[in-house]
Amino acid sequence: MTEPIKTDVLIIGAGPCGLFAVFELGLLDMKAHLVDILDKIGGQCAELYPEKPIYDIPGVPYVSGHGLVEALLAQIKPFKPTFHLNEMVEKIERIGAPAFRVTTDAGKVFECTVVVISAGGGSFQPKKPPIPNIEAYEGKSVFYAVRRMEAFRDKTVLVVGGGDSALDWTLNLAPVAKRLTLLHRRDAFRAAPASVNKMRALVAAGAIDFALGQVTALEGEGGMLTAVTARRDDGSTFAIAADAMLPFFGLTMRLGPIADWGIKLTDGGLIPVDTAAFETSVPGIFAVGDINSYPGKLKLILCGFHEAALAAQKAVHRFAQPILRARLRV
Ligand SMILES: Cc1cc2nc3c(=O)[nH]c(=O)nc-3n(C[C@H](O)[C@H](O)[C@H](O)COP(=O)(O)OP(=O)(O)OC[C@H]3O[C@@H](n4cnc5c(N)ncnc54)[C@H](O)[C@@H]3O)c2cc1C
Repeated sequence: MTEPIKTDVLIIGAGPCGLFAVFELGLLDMKAHLVDILDKIGGQCAELYPEKPIYDIPGVPYVSGHGLVEALLAQIKPFKPTFHLNEMVEKIERIGAPAFRVTTDAGKVFECTVVVISAGGGSFQPKKPPIPNIEAYEGKSVFYAVRRMEAFRDKTVLVVGGGDSALDWTLNLAPVAKRLTLLHRRDAFRAAPASVNKMRALVAAGAIDFALGQVTALEGEGGMLTAVTARRDDGSTFAIAADAMLPFFGLTMRLGPIADWGIKLTDGGLIPVDTAAFETSVPGIFAVGDINSYPGKLKLILCGFHEAALAAQKAVHRFAQPILRARLRV
């Protein structure tokens, strides 16, 4: 077996909530290592919307997904966290009370006093619309995330969906695209009402188009889209010109190995926690951010930050006092 890496805390997932957990734990003198499946730090902010503006971070009127990750990294720099990217945590074993051995798929082994799970939606995969031959267009003219808004400059863009991602990208890409159409199967949205109102104002001003229907076929060659066929509820069809399509049908959560970690899960594969400490059913293992579940839970970065603060307090007071006392004696 590889020589174990000893650390106070092992954080599973380097999304915004895992990063802020480093800060809250660091203030309490607890050192952290972080493991993430992705090749980059920042979770959904980095992977799904690096250029999208975020408006709901307290005291920060505007920051992009990438900007928030950069700011969090600057904030935690004094605590010198160690990142292990491109690795998935596969196994957590209890080896003390509390002490854990955590193993990644690369065979790396950690021994720690506290585990913080900030694994978001597990490994997130976009839900794909059931359109024949869509695979041929993926990554060329059909995209499930916007990594660079400039890639859509002067393109005829079709955004499909009615949730926050569809509305956010409609608003953000409208000034960049040559022409943008939002297509949704009904005239009701699951997105924030303010975004829906802004979208309707753009439609009323003639700046973008809104159409009702569902995409049934793609037209184009060599993976490059030229138009789509959409079907209305009454069965009639119509064409929409598009050289880029962005379907936003949500993300499926591939829970992955979390199901085997001996932690109680909800039917939906989330981790139930108490709201005093955000601790899981296993003492010493905490869960913060999108992965956890409790009455009134909101999947917002702001909520994950709050959860990380309380989890860190509980972790240090309940589990790490001996470690801290030992350090103070040195
Ligand atoms: C398009 C879009 C726009 C959004 N806009 C906003 C907004 O404006 N404001 C807001 O507050 N929220 C917004 N959100 C939601 C916000 O991004 C999430 O609430 C936030 O990312 C949750 O952070 P997290 O750290 O819990 O999880 P994530 O960001 O999902 O990060 C979890 C990380 O854990 C890793 N991981 C999972 N399983 C393992 C494993 N077994 N081993 C190792 N690593 C693992 C994943 O690879 C991932 O990097 C938006 C979401 C989307 C999709």
